[in-house]
Amino acid sequence: MTNQGILIYAEVTREGDLASVVLELANSAQNLAAKLGGQEVSALVVTNAGDIEHVKSDLKSNGFDKVYIVQDERLAIYSTEFYSKIVIDLINEIKPEIVLIGATTQGRDLAPRISSSLNTGLTADCTSLDINEKGMLAATRPTFGGNLMATILCKNFPQMASVRPKVLKKSTFPIEKDTQFIEIKPEIDNVEKKVELVEFIKNIPSTGKRIDESEIIVAGGKGLKSADGLKLLEELANVLGGAVGASRAAVDAGWADHSIQVGQTGKTVMPKLYIACAISGAIQHTVGMNSSEKIIAINKDPKAPIFQIADIGIVGDVYEIVPELIEMLK
Ligand SMILES: Cc1cc2nc3c(=O)[nH]c(=O)nc-3n(C[C@H](O)[C@H](O)[C@H](O)COP(=O)(O)OP(=O)(O)OC[C@H]3O[C@@H](n4cnc5c(N)ncnc54)[C@H](O)[C@@H]3O)c2cc1C
Repeated sequence: MTNQGILIYAEVTREGDLASVVLELANSAQNLAAKLGGQEVSALVVTNAGDIEHVKSDLKSNGFDKVYIVQDERLAIYSTEFYSKIVIDLINEIKPEIVLIGATTQGRDLAPRISSSLNTGLTADCTSLDINEKGMLAATRPTFGGNLMATILCKNFPQMASVRPKVLKKSTFPIEKDTQFIEIKPEIDNVEKKVELVEFIKNIPSTGKRIDESEIIVAGGKGLKSADGLKLLEELANVLGGAVGASRAAVDAGWADHSIQVGQTGKTVMPKLYIACAISGAIQHTVGMNSSEKIIAINKDPKAPIFQIADIGIVGDVYEIVPELIEMLK
């Protein structure tokens, strides 16, 4: 039997909700499935026992033909060994043509484990997905330090790709299907768990808001010259009810934690408003924020590349402009 259909790993968060990347993948999968002549799109939910009715209803209204559900109290906390065994078992049984996984912390752990066990390829951290003229998954991702985009094909089946959250768009309207929900018993009795979670410490930024969840981001770069600059941006973010982000140069300088880095090797964000302060606008930074709805750039160099993607550009010194902005907004 040849491989058929698209399977999406439907990650459930610690809070018991569907990770938003699942719905982004679901929307993209509709397009891929249509190009493959109307193949099935299915999801696999792996979770502990509990109420997952809202997860099911989100999947039902996002175009899934089938949803496989594995519920077991041993799955309350993510485990590489348990989860990968379950996903691999299902792939071996239903033989999908394409497997898509969100490039979240969990997905980044799970996806390579699955692809290496199945002896297939994985294009990680993709920014777009398509089907080429031969009906193969064409997965595009940045390469050579973000200066080139490479479209990668996978020779083996299933063809696997992971996609960063917030890169693809969710459907803006419900895609209702007569979804079939199939419950599966996990076969993990003989699986040895090699890692035990001792404690989970949530990383809460000083503004109390995470950049991947906030609708407003005030981000600072190397031009701030010191960590004090980020404190000033934090004040602006607090007035606006937003989060603080940083360029890699600011993170490398030790002024900010990597968890707030925006860009190719940081997070991809898509807020309603992104205020880039003293950030030059290198491609590796802009790939992580250029889908923001509105971009305001403050930079003292009128030729800074960030102005090419900004909706509003302010040429000037952040240390003069930002305090004035804070005063005005207050
Ligand atoms: C493989 C790879 C991955 C990378 N990943 C990332 C990534 O994820 N994210 C990322 O950000 N970068 C990344 N980079 C680094 C990237 O190439 C740039 O070096 C970096 O983004 C530059 O940061 P910056 O704009 O803060 O600093 P700079 O390029 O030094 O720019 C500072 C800017 O501040 C302006 N300025 C100076 N003083 C003031 C002032 N007082 N007021 C207003 N403006 C002022 C200057 O005019 C300048 O434009 C990566 C690079 C590589 C090779």
